[in-house]
Amino acid sequence: MIFNIQKEERALFELLSQAAKKCGVPAYVVGGYVRDRLLGRPTTDIDVVCVGDGIELAKTVASMLKPCPRVTFYGRFGTAMLKHQGMEIEFVGARKESYAHDSRNPDVSPGTLEDDQLRRDFTINALAVSLNDEDFGSILDPFNGLLHLEQKLIKTPTDPGKTFSDDPLRMMRAIRFAAQLKFRIEDETFEAIGKYKQRIEIVSQERITTELEKIILSERPSIGFKLLFKSGLLQIIFPELAALQGVEVRDGIGHKDNFYHTLQVLDNVAEKTDKKWLRWAALLHDIAKPPTKRFHPKEGWTFHGHENLGAAMVPRIFKKLRLPLDHQMKYVQKLVQLHLRPISLTKEDITDSAVRRLLYEAGDDIDDLMLLAEADITSKNDAKVKRYLRNYKFLRQRLVEIEESDRLRNWQPPISGEDIMKTFGIPPSREVGIIKNAIREAILDGEIPNEREAAFRFMLERGKELGLEGRGEELKNRGTEDLRN
Ligand code: ATP
Ligand code: MG
Repeated sequence: MIFNIQKEERALFELLSQAAKKCGVPAYVVGGYVRDRLLGRPTTDIDVVCVGDGIELAKTVASMLKPCPRVTFYGRFGTAMLKHQGMEIEFVGARKESYAHDSRNPDVSPGTLEDDQLRRDFTINALAVSLNDEDFGSILDPFNGLLHLEQKLIKTPTDPGKTFSDDPLRMMRAIRFAAQLKFRIEDETFEAIGKYKQRIEIVSQERITTELEKIILSERPSIGFKLLFKSGLLQIIFPELAALQGVEVRDGIGHKDNFYHTLQVLDNVAEKTDKKWLRWAALLHDIAKPPTKRFHPKEGWTFHGHENLGAAMVPRIFKKLRLPLDHQMKYVQKLVQLHLRPISLTKEDITDSAVRRLLYEAGDDIDDLMLLAEADITSKNDAKVKRYLRNYKFLRQRLVEIEESDRLRNWQPPISGEDIMKTFGIPPSREVGIIKNAIREAILDGEIPNEREAAFRFMLERGKELGLEGRGEELKNRGTEDLRN
């Protein structure tokens, strides 16, 4: 079969071909680029394999381009990369790999194109397009990759047990591709994952997490997580998540399966947003349900405090998964912590003050929190879902109104600690903290408006109660202007 070279890639393919001829080496475009182009998926990474020295080919290609791009070399196997018109082009010499059982690193030696295709993980990733004169543009497909693309099938080119045992990350990749492409994993291949799953332990956490995040970012992440669970990989790489699975029944009362619920919430969020950390928050929102689960003969099953314990578990999980321990983690933690609050605000007789508090605590993340809360409704009862969504609509309206009048989203205290010290002529002390908190509480409770004048008067009163006086009255009479300096 001939690869349908598009107008915009023809010049590049021809240039690669000329460079290969100059070097006297056969060269091919291989792997992900060919797969994605045949599937009509956007792609910017091109892998070129040549039967010879990949680095020399890269240098030759670079010398033929204007302006001449910088060539980066890396890896132990002579890989070179250059960037051209937004594309990342990687060059490598065809190679043969053999793995000793106890080593993660294969013995590598130069090989033929077929050797190189054979060491690739899946048949759909082993397709090559010739850049050579005699068959320019032909697709070389020794393992039926084209058929499997059509059949939407993930299958290893050789014995799956050997493929997975050699590099166990490929088990994660199989599931990731199944999720991303909505392909099925061929039976023997999937069985081999179950058999070799324990070997995932020799793979670095970073590589595992990269695949996990690709699953999270796929269109319907539940596909990947269900496969991870079914294969037994999830229980090894993410036991806290796997622990959500299952329904316990006592006195005839069951609870919902929190694993499938979580996946539904994640899918719901994924339908609305590509924000990675919001998707992480969805995945982790109920993570502490297993350790907080209790059965009460009257109430049934409860998970009291799972939002607090969940928030406390987030840093541990992030650390183990080697995710960044910075503001993104804090964001996820905050959403886990607050995920029950919107639902509690849809009950009757909710005061403005409760709504104000949520605005204050969620800050700029209020919209993401609302999205998570809406995604969290996974009832099968349509009438119930409709009722919840209607209530959320009212809550959103109320949030907008209160934000307009009180501006609490990114609340900054109208009176600073500095102001308090100056006014009462006191050093940093417990009293300063007491007054500051009292001002904040009064504003959130709606006792005083979120304004400097009112807060100033309130501060003087609270100070008086604490036995602080003096300069206060004097400053009040002068107004608040000089406090701003
Ligand atoms: P994506 O770019 O979406 O991650 P990809 O298949 O292009 O998917 P890359 O990591 O870019 O993945 O690798 C390019 C090619 O290298 C793959 O298509 C495959 O042929 C081969 N490859 C990558 N990782 C492995 C692996 N662990 N084992 C075997 N072959 C691999
Ligand atoms: Mg790629």
